[in-house]
Amino acid sequence: EEPLLEVKDLETFIPTSKGEIKPVNGVSFSINKGEIVALVGESGSGKSVSSLSIMGLNASAIQYSKDSSIAFKGKDLLKLKEKEMRKIRGNEVAMIFQDPMFSLNPVHPIGRQIAESIVLHKKVKYKEALVTALDLLNKVGIPDAKRRLNDYPHQLSGGMRQRVMIAMALACDPQLIIADEPTTALDVTIQAQILNLLRKLQQESGIAILLITHDLGVVAETADRVLVMYCGKIVEEGTVEDIFENPLHPYTRGLLASVPALYGPSKEKLDTIPGVVPNPLELPKGCNFVTRCSYATEKCSQNAPTLLEHPAGNMVACWNALEEEGGIGHYETAASSI
Ligand code: SF4
Ligand code: MG
Repeated sequence: EEPLLEVKDLETFIPTSKGEIKPVNGVSFSINKGEIVALVGESGSGKSVSSLSIMGLNASAIQYSKDSSIAFKGKDLLKLKEKEMRKIRGNEVAMIFQDPMFSLNPVHPIGRQIAESIVLHKKVKYKEALVTALDLLNKVGIPDAKRRLNDYPHQLSGGMRQRVMIAMALACDPQLIIADEPTTALDVTIQAQILNLLRKLQQESGIAILLITHDLGVVAETADRVLVMYCGKIVEEGTVEDIFENPLHPYTRGLLASVPALYGPSKEKLDTIPGVVPNPLELPKGCNFVTRCSYATEKCSQNAPTLLEHPAGNMVACWNALEEEGGIGHYETAASSI
C-alpha cells in the first residue's frame, strides 16, 4: 500500500541578508495511514520548516530544489497551486500549533468557530454544524461541553484550548494531522492528557499524525516511529522501541539523556549534549554534529555520514555507530542481545 505521505529528497533554501541557508537538507520519510510519526530535534533542526512545507505555508519564503517532492496520496503538494493546496489544507491535512490562542479567534465563542469551520468544509447548515461541534467537543474530552460552546477562548485553560484546537482540526475529517509542539506550552500532567487524546484519536479514527517536538519525552507513549533531525538532516530513524532502547546516534543519546529517567535506558549513563546547534550559515564540513560530539574522529570532520541501516534495525547517520569496532552501535547491539 502506498504511504499516505511521502517526503522525498526535500531540500529547502531560504535567502537571508547574510547568505542562503538550507533549513532542510535532503530529507526523506514517509507516513503510513493511521501511523504516528514523531519528528524530533532542537529548534533550528529544520523540523518546523519541514511541516510548513507539507502544509504549503510560507510558500513565498521557502524555495525548493527541483528534486524535492512531498506526495500526499500520490499527489505532489509542491506542484499544487495555492488554490488547490487550500483544498487539502484544513481538509485532508490539518494542523495544530503550540499556541492555540494564535489560531483561535478571540472574539467568537468556540462553538461558533468550530461550527463555522464545519460549514465551510462540509457545506452543511449552521445548526447541523453546531451539533457536530458539540460532538467534537465531547470527543476531545471537554467537560460540560454544551455549556462550553458559548465560551470564548480566553475563558478556557491552556489544555482546554488545545483540546478545542484538536476539535477544530477534526472538524474536517482529516487523514493527517500535523501537530507542531502541541504540548510545549502545557504543564506535564496536561501534556500527558493531550498526548493520550491524540493517541486515542489515532486508534479510534485511524488518523495519521506527524508529531513535531523538541522533547523526546513526549514521544515515548505516543509515537510509532521516530525521526531525529539535526541541522536539516535526519540523523536517526527507528521504531519507538529502537530509539528508546537502543539509540545509536550520539545526538539521539544526548536528547534521551535530557529526558527524565523514567524514559531513558538505565543500564548506562548517557552523554548530555554540550555546545549549541551550529550557525546554519557556517555548518561544519563533515558531520554536522562534529562540534558537539564526544566520539568525533578526524574522519567525522572531513566526511558527512549518510543515513544507513544499522544491523540493529535503526537507520543512522554516524560513522561511529556504523563502522567503528567497539563503537556505539556495536557496543549497544552486543549489550542488548545478552
Ligand atoms: Fe559524532 Fe562522528 Fe558520528 Fe558525527 S559521525 S555523530 S561526529 S561520531
Ligand atoms: Mg518550531
